Order: sequence, then C-alpha cells, then structure tokens
Amino acid sequence: MCGIVGYIGKTKAVDFVVDGLQSLEYRGYDSAGVSTIIDGQAVTTKQVGRVDALRVELESLSINKTAVAVGHTRWATHGIPSVNNAHPHFNSDKTIFVVHNGIIENYQELRTMLQSKGYSFVSETDTEVIPHLIDLNLKTEKSFQKAFEKTIEELDGAYAISALHVSEPDSLYVARLSSPLVIGVGDGEHFLASDATAIMDRTKKVIYLDDYEVAHITPDGLKIHNIRDAVQVQKEAELLDYDAEKAALGDYPNFMLKEIHEAPQTIQSAIRGRIKPEANTVKLGGLDNVMEQLQFIDRIVIVACGTSYYAGLVGEYLIEEIAGIPVEVQLASEFKYRNEPFSRSTALLAISQSGETADTIAALKKVESYGVLRLGIVNAVGSTIARMTDAGVYCHAGPEQSVASTKAFIAQVTVLTEIALNLSEGRTPLYKPLMKELQALPDKVKQIFESDGDIEKLAHKYKDYVDFLFIGRKYGYPCALEGALKLKEISYIHAEGYSAGEMKHGPLAMIDKQFPTFAIATDGELLEKTVSNIEEIRARKGKVVAIATQGNKSVAKVAGDVIYIPETLEQTQPLLIAIVMQLFSYHVAMAKGHNVDRPRNLAKSVTVE
Ligand code: GLU
Repeated sequence: MCGIVGYIGKTKAVDFVVDGLQSLEYRGYDSAGVSTIIDGQAVTTKQVGRVDALRVELESLSINKTAVAVGHTRWATHGIPSVNNAHPHFNSDKTIFVVHNGIIENYQELRTMLQSKGYSFVSETDTEVIPHLIDLNLKTEKSFQKAFEKTIEELDGAYAISALHVSEPDSLYVARLSSPLVIGVGDGEHFLASDATAIMDRTKKVIYLDDYEVAHITPDGLKIHNIRDAVQVQKEAELLDYDAEKAALGDYPNFMLKEIHEAPQTIQSAIRGRIKPEANTVKLGGLDNVMEQLQFIDRIVIVACGTSYYAGLVGEYLIEEIAGIPVEVQLASEFKYRNEPFSRSTALLAISQSGETADTIAALKKVESYGVLRLGIVNAVGSTIARMTDAGVYCHAGPEQSVASTKAFIAQVTVLTEIALNLSEGRTPLYKPLMKELQALPDKVKQIFESDGDIEKLAHKYKDYVDFLFIGRKYGYPCALEGALKLKEISYIHAEGYSAGEMKHGPLAMIDKQFPTFAIATDGELLEKTVSNIEEIRARKGKVVAIATQGNKSVAKVAGDVIYIPETLEQTQPLLIAIVMQLFSYHVAMAKGHNVDRPRNLAKSVTVE
C-alpha cells in the first residue's frame, strides 16, 4: 500500500526514485510526487494518477543531475486523491519536506495546535502536520535531527517517514513505526524504499529499520538511533534474497495470470527440502528452534486478513484433523481489540503474504507481553512479521505483485498442510498419503490449466450477473469464502461465500434465475449433502456452476455447468479448487475489461488499519 522511495549519493537521484516508484506500483496508489533539492531550493512535481505521467513531467524539467530525492505513491487515507494532497508535504516556507506512509492518528489535535500558532495548511492530509511540527520543533531544538526526532516522538499511529531540509542536501532522515522501510547500502550512495523491489537492481545489501528507529542517512554513512530506548544502534547490512527474474512479467499479459500459472512451482518451492516421503519426515527448518515449546502447545490461534485469513481457515481444518490440535482463526483486525483469555499454552500463528500487514502486526504486538509463542507464515523474506515472530515457515512463492492474492494462497495452504503434518509427528494415517499427494499436486494443477479454455467460456457466460453465491462444505467452505472474495476483488460483482449447510438458514431466499451459485461439490464424505443443496437451488430456478472431481457422475446431473478437477485427497482439494476459482474470476474480470492487477480502491500490502 503506497510507496516511499528515496536516494542520496551521486547523481540521477530523480531517475532512481521514479523507477523505484514504478516498481512499487503494484502496491496500489492514486497519486504520486517527487521532490529534489536544487541550489538550496526544493523542486517538486506531483500528479494524480500514474507514475508515467510524473516521469514525463520530470523529464521536461531536466533535473536529473541532483544527488538527493524522495518520492511517494499515495493511497489516500485522509483527503481525496488530488495534487494538493499528494506527497511530499511542506512547511510554509518550503524548507522542509516529508513523505509519509501510514496514518497519524493524533493529527487533528496536532493540526489544531499548529494552527493556533499560526501554521496554515494546504492539504486535507494527516501527513501535513509533520513538516509543520518539525518546523516548530526547530525553533527550540539544536539541529534538524533533534527536531525530527522530537516530532516523531509526538506522533501517534503507524508510519514510515522520510524528511529533508533544503539546507542539508547531504542528509536524509527516516523513521518508522509499524510500516515497512528498507535502506539499501551502495558505494557512496544509499537507497530507501518501502520494499526491496525498488532497490534490488542497484544493491543487494539492505538494512531493515525497526520500530522506533530513526536513521540519519548520508551518501557515505548511516546512523541509527532508537528513540524509545535512547541508544545508538549498530546494524550490519543483510544480503537480499530476491530473484529479479521472478518479478518480471515475461510473456504474460498481466501479473495475475502469471502468478496463477506459477502455482505448480509455488507448491514445489513450498515442499522442496521439507517433505521427504522416503525418509517419512516433514522437516520445517524455520520451526526447529521452537520444537520443544511446540510440544506444550494445546491450542493455536491463527490471525490474518483477507485471503490469508481464508488460507488460515483451511489450516484450521487441516491442523485439527491431521495434528489433533484445536485451532481458532481470527481476523487480525478483530483480534487486536478483543479481550479474550489467552493461556501460555496457546500459540499465535500470523499469516501474511507481505509480512507487513498492519492489523496482523498489531495482533502480534498485542500478545508480546503474554509471553506466548508467536509463529509466522510469511512470503516476503525479511519482512516485519518474519522478523518479529519467534519462528516461522516461509512460503517461498517469490514476489506476488497482482493485488488479488493467488499463488500466495496456494503457498500458504501448502505450508499449513506441512505444519499440520509436522505437528502430527507422524501419528496420523494421512501422514504418508498426504506427503505423496503434495508431491503429485504440481502435475494435477497443470491438468487444470489444460481445461482453462472451458473455464474461460463459463466465465463469459456468467460475467453479466450482478450477484454470485459461493457454497461449499468442510474444506470446500473456506474455499467458497475465498472464491467469493476473488470475484469481488477483481470483477466487482457482488459475491458471498457460505457454508452449503447454511443455505436453508437464509441465503436460499435470495436465489432466483438472476442469482447464480458457484458450488464446490468435489468428492468427499459430504458430497451428497452438497448435491442436495444444488437440487434445492435448481428447484428455485437458480443457475449453478459446480466444481466436481473427475469421474464423478452425480454432480453433472444436477448442476447446469461443471468444471472438473483431478482426483486428489480431500485435504489437498483446496489447492486445486482455488486454481479453478482464480481462473474463473480472472476471466470474468478480463471479459469485463477490468485491470486485474490493480483493482479499484485496493492496494497490495495493507500497511494501515
Ligand atoms: N495518510 C496519508 C495520506 O492520506 C498517507 C497515506 C499513504 O500511506 O499513502 O496522505
């Protein structure tokens, strides 16, 4: 969600910043801006809309010789997307400028205080209080650094901030709290970005700032000060583990299709070196250091948002069935405000693709003082959640750029299956069969791709409906929820996911010939019950698209349209069902002419509440 990019060093600062902003576009934004310093004055360009437009304008200004610049893509939280609200924001005499990602929760209070002292505001943003507050603090503090730090101490909320003063073109000041920020270390130059995608072409050496850390960055050096503990912090640069090739589009028309098609490799990468049927082991290196503690865990609470939450729900069924440990899944945004009993024998498991999801981070912070085990399933290596948990398992899905999550869900569910197997310590009859099936899955996913033409045809047939119901039972239930979310996100069709068993308790009232249902009716112990639900829907003239297992005959007799998945274990069905639903939503959205990678109003990693 939104992006910050900065550069300080040699030359071509603006070029780097604009390229960086472009590579962060996938995170979602509505406006963009860049500032640099020329002859002691700030030069700024802002645009509503795409970074491309910003680039064109900057080229006409020929300001690319400068050695410092910061840029921002904004995802509006306070005030409409407009040039005035776009960042960077300034103090009144335009000597201080700031880019900010996140929300300043006490901005009203600060704004009123600053206005009472004569400061006037040109935007509706919460961000604009920051440059004015630095300006005010500069009147009493000895240096810009001190004024910046004092300002940071006065802010409540979540933020990544970079601030500059025109009289110090050799200094870039940054701070963060609960929002991502990474510093790239170059030779006589430093890079700044919300995520490593923006800097990986220039350096592999990175330093991650932690909460309450303020960095003073110059071309040759970097000083980090923890303002909460009032100590200087020494940090060694880490080597970035990032495959640039995986981040490129290749021959695909968009990232969503590319990422759906990466599912076979995604499963492969998630099981590589972990699943060993020959040795009868499931080894998760990331959990090694907490294996002893895990022996005493009698309950797991999974916290996540969006698609990760639905992966968590699949995980709940898996861990309970395979490992026999009770699991509860909670939306991170609810969990953090709940007053629930939480014993030391409960582990918290956070799931997040980006590892930067604000609500999930808040959930982890909430239990910090409980002394409980905090685990993570994260895709982005080195991200905040990966670093703040006691142990965890990486998804290894490679960068996911399309806003609607596809391969990350596949990776998360694969990892959850492995965790369930690992926690079962081999005590389930499913142990070996599941390991074998996980290995067979990449080929089964490829078989689904072969029937993509049929899925596309069905998508065209159903694209003009305005409502859609998704139903399923047991493992199919969280899949139904995720299927509905996928359709909503990219096609903007109203869709709801329901347990098929709930139909008679309400949703059936909505069914008529204008309200189709997507029924997950794959083989399993509850198939007959779902078939009855389909009958009930058909009896009320509702249209039904069903997902069934190859070889099944009963579903086609009742459902109007059927998409088949290869035979697999019930526990691994979600992985195949998800692919079908992703493709279905994709084709609906494409047929409607939507931008599937950047759906309206949404952003990739949700770094604000
Ligand atoms: N809250 C700030 C604004 O609305 C920053 C939003 C962002 O993270 O892009 O301008």
